[in-house]
Amino acid sequence: LHNMRAFDVALIHYGEISLKGHNRPLFEKRLAENILRATSPLGLNRLRRSRGRLVLNLDSFTDISRLASALKAVFGVSWFAVAYEVEQNLDSITTRLMEVAPEFISPSDQFRVLAKRADKGFQTSSMALNRILGDVVQRATGAKVSLKAFNKEVFVEVSADKAFIFFERVKGLGGLPVGTSGKALALLSGGIDSPVAAWLAMKRGCHLGYVHFHPFSDYRQVLGSKVIDLISLLCRFSGPARLYLVPSYVFQVSTASGSGRHELILFRRFMFKVSEVLAQRDGASALVTGESLAQVASQTLQNLGVIQAGLRLPVLRPLLTYDKQEIVDLAKSLGTYELSIRPYRDCCSIIARHPETRAKLDVIERLEEDLDMNGIVDRTLREVVTLEVSEEGVREA
Ligand code: ATP
Ligand code: MG
Repeated sequence: LHNMRAFDVALIHYGEISLKGHNRPLFEKRLAENILRATSPLGLNRLRRSRGRLVLNLDSFTDISRLASALKAVFGVSWFAVAYEVEQNLDSITTRLMEVAPEFISPSDQFRVLAKRADKGFQTSSMALNRILGDVVQRATGAKVSLKAFNKEVFVEVSADKAFIFFERVKGLGGLPVGTSGKALALLSGGIDSPVAAWLAMKRGCHLGYVHFHPFSDYRQVLGSKVIDLISLLCRFSGPARLYLVPSYVFQVSTASGSGRHELILFRRFMFKVSEVLAQRDGASALVTGESLAQVASQTLQNLGVIQAGLRLPVLRPLLTYDKQEIVDLAKSLGTYELSIRPYRDCCSIIARHPETRAKLDVIERLEEDLDMNGIVDRTLREVVTLEVSEEGVREA
């Protein structure tokens, strides 16, 4: 790769957002901002819009594999390519193609050319371009054209003022640019499911904050834990995020007498109540959890209903219909799995084993009155610590 002529630009294509009608400018603007956030550590910040795609200027020394991994972490990118940029005329395209094709295509290869004109004012049709440029590449490389049995491809895109030549399309994450769906607060346990759920909510354009409930008397015990590492990893996809650390001791002390089979339901309602207040303070309009229908006793359909009863904000459960194995597979591909299985003292491990699977709301509400749940929530909110997490680590907000 080292003696290859340096690429001029990255062409970045976005699929779904081009369908969004009047929201389109907002989506493009947010996507551009998110791309620049990901690429500016590489010193790249010249990005322009060109007919339904974005064009990022590269430097001769740009580290292409670092660039690729940055772009692979931006939601809303459907695919991208590193490309050569030339003037929009057949001569310029031909000259550059003669020069670079041999670096990508060897005599034993079979290739096809896929030319596209975004600008219909360009004098040559796409079909004719395919043919002409096929001949050029054949002469330059000695390889043969084959529309059926090709192992290499040559892409040429002609835009209004420039033309782009590239040899590989790299698939992006798809989804929607983070921020275009507003803000949500993700309940993150450190288990396998919630980081995956958070990632999926980001994929649909949510900008996330995080809340984590911990069993420690000192929040600093969370700092070196996998909880921070998980959020750091997720920040790769979104930029820095706020994290609320909430102690569970006020709740735990109050139920020391033991509410037995109801304790887990009460604790989950407690988490939701506290989280809702934090979300509203932040201007977030939904909560996100890793719950999956019937995966564990607290997640029966009936319990899900009882747990969320009384909340004003919607609860998003991206994993609701996922099988455990599907969640594990996705966690492995994101890299969260290895972190999630690291040992950690989880709040839920302190709570009674055999929870009620068919909790009744009126019973729960009566228990909450006896326990003064509102007071527990208020006292807990006074103990919340707010942090800022980024890919680099964590600091006090
Ligand atoms: P996970 O793998 O995400 O821990 P789980 O399968 O263990 O999920 P539960 O323990 O019932 O299921 O938790 C369901 C959801 O509640 C979690 O996915 C997470 O969103 C939230 N949650 C659980 N414990 C905590 C916690 N300590 N702090 C913040 N959120 C939590
Ligand atoms: Mg868990």
